[in-house]
Amino acid sequence: MTSFKQFADACKNIEKITSSLEMTDQVADLLAKVDTDELPVVTHFIMGQIFPSWSSQELGIGESLLYTALSKASGLSVDDIENIIRDTGDIGETAVRALSKLSRNQVTFSSFVEEPTPQITILEVSDRLKRIANVSGKGSQNQKVKNLQYLFNASSPEEARYLSRLAVEELRIGVGEGIVRDAISKAFNVPVEKLERSFMLTNDLGAVAVAAQQGGEEEVSKLDIQVNRPVRMMLAQVTPSIETAFNEMGTAAIEWKFDGARVQIHKDKEEVNIFSRKLENVTNSLPDIVESVKNQLNADTAIIDGEAVAIDEDGRPRAFQDILRRFRRKYDVLSTSKEIPIILNMFDLMYLDGESYIDLPLKYRREILGNIVENTKSIKVDKQILTSDVEEANRVYNNALSAGHEGIMIKNPESPYSPGKRGKNWLKKKPIMETLDLVVIGGEWGYGRRANLIGSYAIACYDRDRGQYLPIGKVATGITDEKLEELTSLFSDLIVSEKGRKIEFKPEIVFEIGFEEIQKSNNYESGYALRFPRLVNVRDDKSPEESDTIERIEDIYLKQRSRNHNNSS
Ligand code: ATP
Repeated sequence: MTSFKQFADACKNIEKITSSLEMTDQVADLLAKVDTDELPVVTHFIMGQIFPSWSSQELGIGESLLYTALSKASGLSVDDIENIIRDTGDIGETAVRALSKLSRNQVTFSSFVEEPTPQITILEVSDRLKRIANVSGKGSQNQKVKNLQYLFNASSPEEARYLSRLAVEELRIGVGEGIVRDAISKAFNVPVEKLERSFMLTNDLGAVAVAAQQGGEEEVSKLDIQVNRPVRMMLAQVTPSIETAFNEMGTAAIEWKFDGARVQIHKDKEEVNIFSRKLENVTNSLPDIVESVKNQLNADTAIIDGEAVAIDEDGRPRAFQDILRRFRRKYDVLSTSKEIPIILNMFDLMYLDGESYIDLPLKYRREILGNIVENTKSIKVDKQILTSDVEEANRVYNNALSAGHEGIMIKNPESPYSPGKRGKNWLKKKPIMETLDLVVIGGEWGYGRRANLIGSYAIACYDRDRGQYLPIGKVATGITDEKLEELTSLFSDLIVSEKGRKIEFKPEIVFEIGFEEIQKSNNYESGYALRFPRLVNVRDDKSPEESDTIERIEDIYLKQRSRNHNNSS
């Protein structure tokens, strides 16, 4: 049985390490030690997660709930807790300080009775946190506080450091999916590629770890996609030109790149679930699509990939924000669905009637998809053209653009569906310059007239191995007062700490950033900086983990260098 203290001790060790390899070793040691029923919990906890990525369950512990629980557990007032957090800027350190005060008080005031050292187990912590996630309705806040207070009371200050960080689902010890995957590989001797694939299929590193522990590579390979559990979406690379794409691919499958939002549809008999690009369950906001899928999709069970497009009276795509309004809508969904009608364009099939289709060639998947969907005004499998003729592809491209869409997708007709991969089998051609999707991790209050507005934003790229965000610059220009107000209110709930004018945000919001060039820089932890960054869009449809990675930044930097080199030679 693993105590939470053992877990906290492991976190403390790992936090001090800078080398990824050493970190992987430590995580591997921990995973190898724990019991099978603890393994999924530890696998997720070590990344600061309570639930697997496929789950839409949320812990729902906000700042005020956490401060109340800490105040009750420590005997300090909520004001005191807020003062400590202002001072430390870190919830973990705040918990340590608050609860250390309690120990001192206990020593002073207790009647010389030795308190038993509580050794709460990792499973008890997991169980309490799940209870917190599950309570709802009247009195639920109270219940949540009680459960959290219980956990703090049963913890030593050092355990509380990691408990409080878990409660906000940010452990911040530098362990991300990449390191955990490699640690599972080391602990149970299963090749990394096998684990990666099973992870992309199941979205559940806990389940992958258990399979690896139980039956090694063979058991891991048995993990497969399941209906009602979102699969990581296959992604596309940019191609500089249609010619280049054909040179790489030969004959290609050309589709319109629709201007909407990605959806993954799961049909399980009469039940339909729709997941967004962030793999959030958005079914309740899209009753019209649910109906169309029920009526027009001729399958018992299926998983389908597609793009939902909000259209105007002329059938042209509306602004991206409109589709997001539909996705976010929780009330009056029916009237909003009339106000903003959606067309669902399906373009891929991953699973049908109990069988995975992802390893079959695209041309075959596509043919079957065409056979099981009855095209109507609101749901359809659009045309796909197989060609090696640049002129023909150019025509499709121009048609897509004049219909108001983004460009074209150029796909390898022989390729499998590769969940979570941004490979060469899907290429995209769009007219606009490349942008980066970066996570907002901080900001600064403005001066004078703009003193109550957040005037600039610190942006960062993602380091998947470590699950960390690496700063790459600041964006301020091109934002109007009105936009600033909108953004300030959007970020006000995400403030983690403030020092002077500087603010730290919980990394949650993704900005699409235009830029002139990527440069090497010692000013930012990523080692890179952007020349002339500007805000193009708020990518509400992307989760922070889906923002551009440090590898992509490096990649663009290198391409840019070779381009500059070619131009000057
Ligand atoms: P972008 O900002 O260009 O949409 P992205 O990072 O969101 O890029 P990419 O994987 O690079 O996503 O580009 C593919 C995206 O294009 C998909 O996520 C999907 O939302 C959209 N899309 C539109 N039409 C298609 C199509 N026919 N096939 C695949 N993806 C399509």
